[in-house]
Amino acid sequence: MLGLMQDQPLLISSLLAHAQRHHGDTEIVSRRVEGDIHRYTYRDLADRSQGVAQALDHMGLAFSDRVATLAWNGYRHLELYFGVSGSGRVLHTINPRLHPDQIAWIANHAQDQVLCFELSFLPIIQAVQPHCKTVKHWVALCAPEQLPADCAIPNLLSYESWIAGHSERYQWPVFDEKSASSMCYTSGTTGNPKAALYSHRSTILHAYAAALPDVMALSARDSVLPVVPMFHVNAWGIPYSAALTGCKLVLPGPALDGKSIYELIEAEQVTYAAGVPTIWQMLLGHMRPLGLKFTSLNRTVIGGSACPPAMINAFRDDYGVEVLHAWGMTEMSPLGTLCTLKNRHLKLPVAEQLKIRLKPGRAIYGVDMKIVDSQGRDLPWDGKSFGDLLVRGPWILKEYFKGEGGDPLVQGWFPTGDVATIDADGYMQITDRSKDVIKSGGEWISSIDVENIAMAHPAVAMAACIGVAHPKWDERPVVVVVKRPGLELTREELLASYEGKIAKWQIPDDVIFTESIPLGATGKMQKMKLREQLADYRLPSQ
Ligand code: AMP
Repeated sequence: MLGLMQDQPLLISSLLAHAQRHHGDTEIVSRRVEGDIHRYTYRDLADRSQGVAQALDHMGLAFSDRVATLAWNGYRHLELYFGVSGSGRVLHTINPRLHPDQIAWIANHAQDQVLCFELSFLPIIQAVQPHCKTVKHWVALCAPEQLPADCAIPNLLSYESWIAGHSERYQWPVFDEKSASSMCYTSGTTGNPKAALYSHRSTILHAYAAALPDVMALSARDSVLPVVPMFHVNAWGIPYSAALTGCKLVLPGPALDGKSIYELIEAEQVTYAAGVPTIWQMLLGHMRPLGLKFTSLNRTVIGGSACPPAMINAFRDDYGVEVLHAWGMTEMSPLGTLCTLKNRHLKLPVAEQLKIRLKPGRAIYGVDMKIVDSQGRDLPWDGKSFGDLLVRGPWILKEYFKGEGGDPLVQGWFPTGDVATIDADGYMQITDRSKDVIKSGGEWISSIDVENIAMAHPAVAMAACIGVAHPKWDERPVVVVVKRPGLELTREELLASYEGKIAKWQIPDDVIFTESIPLGATGKMQKMKLREQLADYRLPSQ
């Protein structure tokens, strides 16, 4: 017997229709590429997103055709989020920090028909245009008068003239909720990038879950700043959860430096912000010397890389901001776990609570996870046993776009490539990326633990721990450190700070001071590149 409830597909357009009707006057504020602040409302967003949908119809784009974006977090990008997916096409967000060759490669692989880009990315477009075989239309996210006179891009339109004149009422089409809605290519540290292809259903379920109180806890009373880019895993789904809850949205554009972010938080009375640790490092780096405080921010979700405990403590103790440590990945839409306490933890001493809060947390409903050993056998949830982390759920990838890389699943589970422990309460802790694990004398050393201790030193701005080959121990850890400007630190001082915090054999053999650590297009440390740079390095004992 089937249930007798209405069968309405879960479509992204319904989020926008809801925001338009119930939160029509709520603000969306964007810092534009030009530097000025643009403001409008969900009602305006809905009107203009319909303009996008109709402009695509007008161009003759078919259902599921790909529309690419090369854009910062801003209102026009948001309109493309809803207009492209809502009308049944697939939004392909491209990371502008990729090399032009990679951009051309993924635009061809995705078979993008239209490419919408920030005018400031014109040099990238000029480099890739001759190589993008499928792109028929190029749309610059600007007004017609801003279009450069002669930039050698064929079929170039300004976004404003493209969506203008389509103001008649538009009916969002209704189709199968399993239809593709957007796509994002993974960082692709080895081989060519592969794309996760999200559906309307997976996106809505993820947006619902993300808004829950023990996840991002978004509400109509919040002013939300996604610093996490809209070109990377849909800004962690925040644009969708924002429309679902009707919170005010604040979009930072290209100005991601500490000063600009701080000013935006204060000016727009942001209550909630989301970003990767490197961004918050810059923010705190700006605030500390000037003695600045927040007047509205009360919580921030940090993920994408391990959030150093020192950062969680600084936000809490110095700024009264609760850090929600989260873990996820492109293949997971991205949210997998987020750290909030359970009721009985509230009785624990603050120091004990803090230990829990440092972990990326427990699984969100919708994500099933487990850890296994090298033979695929389940490992116990004791907080000590560590193994490969596998996940499954309705917003987790089952196959890459075009079947690239074959069947990625292991008996129905997606292998994340992360190594983790899970404790008896279900709190997961990442110890490493499986390819970054350091094996010394037959024992594993967590590079994240080693990095976190270094990051707790006030003179350390960034730290990466890598394994270096050793004839006796197989590998030994060394820590590569970028010092904070103007502060002094010696190798001996830093190594002394490890005493008593981890086992003696886990303490790095050496400290290498450097000017910078290579970061990938999504702000993650590129340890493979770092290992290449240090190919000639020899341990002090050798
Ligand atoms: P991406 O798909 O580019 O977003 O990268 C996903 C990867 O980032 C994960 O598989 C983890 O290795 C890493 N990651 C994300 N969040 C965390 C976290 N909170 N702690 C440690 N690593 C993380």
